Amino acid sequence: MTGATAPTAPAPAAVEVHDVHKWFAGRRVLDGVSLTVRPGTVTVVLGRSGSGKSTLLRVVNHLEKPEAGYVSVGGELIGVQRQGARLKELSERAILAQRGRIGFVFQNFNLFPHLTVLDNVAAAPVATGRLRRAEAQALARELLERVGLGDRTGAYPRQLSGGQQQRVAIARALALRPGVILFDEPTSALDPELVGEVLSVIKDLATGGTTLVIVTHEIGFAREVADEIVFLHDGRIVEQGPPEQVLDRPAHPRTREFLSKVL
Ligand code: ADP
Ligand code: MG
Repeated sequence: MTGATAPTAPAPAAVEVHDVHKWFAGRRVLDGVSLTVRPGTVTVVLGRSGSGKSTLLRVVNHLEKPEAGYVSVGGELIGVQRQGARLKELSERAILAQRGRIGFVFQNFNLFPHLTVLDNVAAAPVATGRLRRAEAQALARELLERVGLGDRTGAYPRQLSGGQQQRVAIARALALRPGVILFDEPTSALDPELVGEVLSVIKDLATGGTTLVIVTHEIGFAREVADEIVFLHDGRIVEQGPPEQVLDRPAHPRTREFLSKVL
């Protein structure tokens, strides 16, 4: 492009995964995965069990450390810093601080059983020193309202259904004001009749412009919310594109085989 306009730096990717390799006990689990997630978009990761989906999400927030490659979130390297041509591991404290800016919603909710719903959501902003307790609780009330649980703030996790617990977990992730929220099979542990309420909350976030990366087997949902679908097979991305392409006209035999089983 020519002209007098001053070049502006492009906005950093919400998430960039660069040529990540991960081994477990001599077994290659991620084999050169690269992925760019643009801000405000929804990426759905599909793949059969054992293909490396959870490991990929866990590498993004440095719950797993890659043997090669790197990840950045919002333009910031995660878990490491550059030292000349090498990458040096950050301190545990620095890694925890970074992880505090990346939302993660697990299959099994992982709520604190001894804390009320309100405190589950308010805990992290207080613990990280970002908000005072009263401010965090006000934010927690607002977020619980948003996920339809404004009337259950005083309940304990065990008093809630799985769908309600997962909605608390989503509110808790939002309380971090994260640049991205990672979901690892957020509805897989739920009774079928509770899946819809959780997907509907996630759909609201997607519509509202929150950047999401979602591992799920809910193909209909993926079709509705995804800007980009990534198909992982044996630790490699073998196919990637908008839902119309990957779901309706899959080019790779492994994608076709997978879709024929889940659809
Ligand atoms: P998915 O989420 O797609 O089912 P995972 O990322 O959980 O796949 O796992 C990919 C492979 O890595 C599997 O073979 C799994 O057994 C192995 N794996 C995952 N985590 C560990 C671990 N902490 N130690 C050893 N092997 C692991
Ligand atoms: Mg998994």
